[in-house]
Formats: sequence, structure tokens, C-alpha cells
Amino acid sequence: MAFVTISGYPSSGKSRRALELAQFLSEKITSPSYEGSCSTVEVISDDSLGIERSAYDESRSEKPARGTLLTAVQRALALNKIIILDSLNYHKGFRYQLYCAARESKVRVCTLYAVATPDLCREWNSSRQDGHRYTPETLENLFMRYEEPSSMVRWDSPLFTVAWSDESLPNDSIWEAITKGNIKPPNSGT
Ligand code: ADP
Repeated sequence: MAFVTISGYPSSGKSRRALELAQFLSEKITSPSYEGSCSTVEVISDDSLGIERSAYDESRSEKPARGTLLTAVQRALALNKIIILDSLNYHKGFRYQLYCAARESKVRVCTLYAVATPDLCREWNSSRQDGHRYTPETLENLFMRYEEPSSMVRWDSPLFTVAWSDESLPNDSIWEAITKGNIKPPNSGT
């Protein structure tokens, strides 16, 4: 039914937001008032696919990691599912590939951009207790390489930007976008 790309700096709170969104969407599709055909919300992430943070240390290991993410998304996309991809997704070209895969499967799309300052990401990264810490070098590298999503391009749109200080996600607007948005073919202009 839908595909949500989460993007943001490393350790910016993407997984936290992914969980928040998955919880909201799961409640929506199991509520008695829901009449649609979606039966599952699935979060695909580096962790669910066993991709270590060290994969982002160099492009040689990052490319296969992106391949693994794309293949997992392609396999999971279905008309009765909402798929949330919780990963850096910082590369414009990669987000475009994901978008094309989603549109080929005729599902609606949106992008959630989790924003936190580099200083906060550094702080949160260094105090992570989950074993998923980036090295300081990789963290700085990823800040530099990060290609910000833009609502002006079709593959990032509709774009929902959420700051680290925002108490909640724009859940209702996201729900609206993924249940009532127009479906355009991948080549219908920006
Ligand atoms: P990402 O998925 O972007 O790597 P996570 O959601 O895993 O980020 O969060 C990274 C770390 O930062 C975690 O330890 C988490 O508890 C902490 N964190 C994330 N968002 C916030 C926030 N808004 N306030 C305080 N700590 C946060």
C-alpha cells in the first residue's frame, strides 16, 4: 500500500521516529474504523538486515549495504503492506531508486526527514548503548556527504520534516499522504 523512506544524519533519531510511526500506523490499520486492505506495517532497517554501522566506513562496503536494503525493500513491497525503511538514505540517487521500486509496485510513497544538529548527533552517537555507534570519522564523513531531501523533487515528495525537538510526528498528514495521495508514474516530471 505504501512505502515510507526515513532519512537523516547518523544517530539523529531515525529509528526512534520509525518506531513512533510504525506504532501509529499499526494502530490505524487495526482500528475498527479502518476499511482498507492494508494488514501489516513492516520496518526494514540496517539492524533488521544485519548491516553493521561499520559498513558506512567506506564506499566499498557501503555499496553492497545499499544493495541489500534495496533488495529487501523490493521483496517486501506489496499492496497490503506499509513498508518503512529506517536507514540513512542520504544518497539522492538511492532515494530515487527506492522511489522507482515503490512506484513499480504501485504503492504510495512519502519521505520522513529526521533533523538533528550535528552536535546533538555527535552527543547521541557517543552515548549510544545499543552497540550501533558510528566511528567519529564516519560520523563526520556522513555529515559531509549527506544529501538533504527536497520537496521539489518527486522522489522525496511528499516530504515531512521533523525536528529532534518536535514532540510528535505529523502522523495524520502522513496517513493522509499514504492513503489518499495521487499515484503518479515514475516518469511524470518533478
Ligand atoms: P538513528 O536511527 O538516526 O541512528 P536512533 O533513533 O537510534 O538514531 O537514536 C540514536 C541515539 O540517540 C539513541 O541512543 C537515542 O536514544 C538517542 N536519541 C534519539 N533522539 C533523541 C531525542 N530527541 N532526545 C534524546 N535522545 C535521543
